[in-house]
Amino acid sequence: SMASPALLMRVVASAYSVAEKAATIVRNVMSAGDLGIVEKAGPNDLQTKADRLVQMSICASLARKFPKVTIIGEEELPTDDVTEDLIEDGHCEEILKKPCPAQYTGIKEEELVIWVDPLDGTKEYTEGLLDHVTVLIGIAYGGKAIAGVINQPYYNYEAGANAALGRTIWGVLGMGAFGFQLTEAPAGKHIVVTTRSHSSALVNECITALNPDAVIRVGGAGNKIIQLIEGKASAYVFASPGCKKWDTCAPEAILHAVGGKITDIRGNPFQYNKEVKHMNSAGVLATLRNYDYYASRIPNTVKESLVP
Ligand code: AMP
Ligand code: MG
Ligand code: MG
Repeated sequence: SMASPALLMRVVASAYSVAEKAATIVRNVMSAGDLGIVEKAGPNDLQTKADRLVQMSICASLARKFPKVTIIGEEELPTDDVTEDLIEDGHCEEILKKPCPAQYTGIKEEELVIWVDPLDGTKEYTEGLLDHVTVLIGIAYGGKAIAGVINQPYYNYEAGANAALGRTIWGVLGMGAFGFQLTEAPAGKHIVVTTRSHSSALVNECITALNPDAVIRVGGAGNKIIQLIEGKASAYVFASPGCKKWDTCAPEAILHAVGGKITDIRGNPFQYNKEVKHMNSAGVLATLRNYDYYASRIPNTVKESLVP
């Protein structure tokens, strides 16, 4: 008889469908036109109606199916009952059919932590830079990011009004990542991707020290990891606090699943256990290939300015 699928694969298969529902909410809020923008820490730290509804949708949908999993979402929301129309109970059949990597088959619900960024790139969303936006669901076990789902609600929007919008990328350590074409950045060129809306003197000092051939400034941690795995950029460099665990968990799992590497600017790995500090205080350094090239060129003065 067929064994029932491992918990991890059931969580990833559900997260896939939950992220697609989230993308529909992101698009619907934008087309309805009332974003309901609230400032959190300040004008560069925003929350919209889409951030709120999507967080409720993702967290309530996953909590209903996996009640003992710890789920940590970016947004602080009143604990109102979530309306039934926000619940997604489907899953991706194709993911469920894939064998779980042997080292993860015994995982129990209590051992998983899910980090949710309902809408990554909110600043850009409010400015109409819709292709920067992603929905991030990262899955951690033993403090490590082991699986993730990234949905791009506006993927393909340049193809015109009748094109089907959106795509979902997913990955599991030991299995690989799917839903996109893995592409290496141009050989011998150093193309750095960094923040568009959260720059600082230190962020720019660090990039200048790398002497890149080009710098791409776009919103979103999810979006920047996609630039790496699709060969648009060779390194994601952000020498600043500001990114949080929900920004990096899903991107990290997908990047690591295809052989890339992400750490803070000082080279320390991120931890994702439920007690961990949310802020990635020492910034982000990520590459698909040639991590050591970039790590070895980050100035010590920059490293010493960032306290983990
Ligand atoms: P960015 O590359 O600026 O789009 O940032 C990636 C993620 O980190 C987004 O979720 C941002 O909201 C968050 N982030 C980065 N820097 C800051 C900051 N200074 N204040 C608030 N959020 C930040
Ligand atoms: Mg974010
Ligand atoms: Mg967010």
